[in-house]
Amino acid sequence: MSQDPEDFSELSQHTLDRNSMQMLPEPFCRRHHVVVLGKVDPAAPNATVTVGMLDPDNPNILTRIGDLLERSIRTVRLNRYEIESALETGFGAGQRVTADLVIRPRPPSRHQPTAMELVDTILAMGVEKKASDIHIESYPGDVDLRLRIDGILHQMYTDMSPELVSEVINRIKILAQLDITEHRRPQDGRIRAVIDRGEDHRKVIDYRVSVVPSPAGEDVVIRILDPNAGLVPVVQLGMGEDMQRIFLQLLNNPEGLVLVTGPTGSGKTTTLYSALAQLNDGRRKIITAEDPIEYLVPKVNQKQVSPQMPYSVLLRALLRQDPNILLMGEVRDLETGSTALNAARTGHIVLGTLHTADAVGAIGRLRGLELDDTDIADALLAVLAQRLARRICERCSEPREPTEEQKALLGHLLEGIQLRAGRGCEHCHHTGYRKRVGIFELLVVDTGMQDLIVSGAHNAQIRKYARQHFFKTMVDDAMEKIAAGLTTVDELVRVIPYRHIIATRDERQR
Ligand SMILES: [Zn+2]
Repeated sequence: MSQDPEDFSELSQHTLDRNSMQMLPEPFCRRHHVVVLGKVDPAAPNATVTVGMLDPDNPNILTRIGDLLERSIRTVRLNRYEIESALETGFGAGQRVTADLVIRPRPPSRHQPTAMELVDTILAMGVEKKASDIHIESYPGDVDLRLRIDGILHQMYTDMSPELVSEVINRIKILAQLDITEHRRPQDGRIRAVIDRGEDHRKVIDYRVSVVPSPAGEDVVIRILDPNAGLVPVVQLGMGEDMQRIFLQLLNNPEGLVLVTGPTGSGKTTTLYSALAQLNDGRRKIITAEDPIEYLVPKVNQKQVSPQMPYSVLLRALLRQDPNILLMGEVRDLETGSTALNAARTGHIVLGTLHTADAVGAIGRLRGLELDDTDIADALLAVLAQRLARRICERCSEPREPTEEQKALLGHLLEGIQLRAGRGCEHCHHTGYRKRVGIFELLVVDTGMQDLIVSGAHNAQIRKYARQHFFKTMVDDAMEKIAAGLTTVDELVRVIPYRHIIATRDERQR
């Protein structure tokens, strides 16, 4: 490969000045392999700044450097090693947090905030309010800022004027490395930010950004991936005591496959990370194959699926890394399915997800991938199906009588239960709900069920067997949580399919 000598410059030809180098944020420099060279005179805003780059041809990064330095720049091509060693001079070897943005939350000021300040405020507010998503919607002459908290959208007050909204969206697009000239097609990107509240309050947050054109401009939805929010201890997931004990015993098996099923947003990822945290005792090697990595777990070897390393290839490579526990994402086809089953039968605990409506459905889904009945029966330890229901606000909870409709739907399931609901108060933003609680069913594959699977028994037979062996459905679990005053019949109906509700009702009648 030839290199233009004019273009290629050796690091030794430049002075390295710490103060000048720190004009660009360290995370930005590390992530994009960029370094300020020479001494920059702060009193000369019109002087050109020399910047060393791995890839001086990347227009997005050039724009961002220009924005950050607010000066004109001249670029010099450096190799990776030269940039790394220059950055060590400027910032020290230290802990390398690679981020696009450092947010230092400020108290509100009197002046109209700039687009940059608004973006910082919005990103920090989403994290502070424990939202899962930030929505910015443009309407003619109006703009809406909403946060999704506990699964439901809440309107927020914002300083963002309709005039400023396009600047705000531009700033978000720059940070997420999107094409700011593109307004007609949807785009996806990612922002990694450090929220720095001083001293020991630094938090790395990943934001997944989706921009979609709308009649009045562009709409932005930002998913917040807070690596710290992912780690809920198993005891706090909301499983009943018996189920929790069995679930933990299953995970302590030397080998086998445990699947977690449910629709998107049902809390599968949270459960899997809780399980990982529980298994992470330092004596076992834990590897994950994720697409994308949602939460960072200390001392767990997390790997991201990429175009160079597709899911099935990554899984096979990881199994050669001698793990005890492998967390994979979705079991989506014959290839990933057989990799999971083989690993689960050769000395590994394998955790994975499936999109099925209930636990028994997982067995049918694995069969549908053309996996062998005997292999399934051998490898599968258990299937956990789950949903997330909103939890009644503790501060405004009060007794309720069931409606005629609820009596007709649930019949004898309501016997002896005092319903409760939230009246609505400040604490719960007048919704009557605050936080969420998991609704679970755990199907354990015992020897009797193994025989049924091998013999080709269909779902109805498996369900019947399970029911005769103390299997509790999600509806049973939800009814227990309703009886305990944790959630409402409205939430049961919202998160669990109607046919599951009447199936459990009619079964229990017999
Ligand atoms: Zn309340």
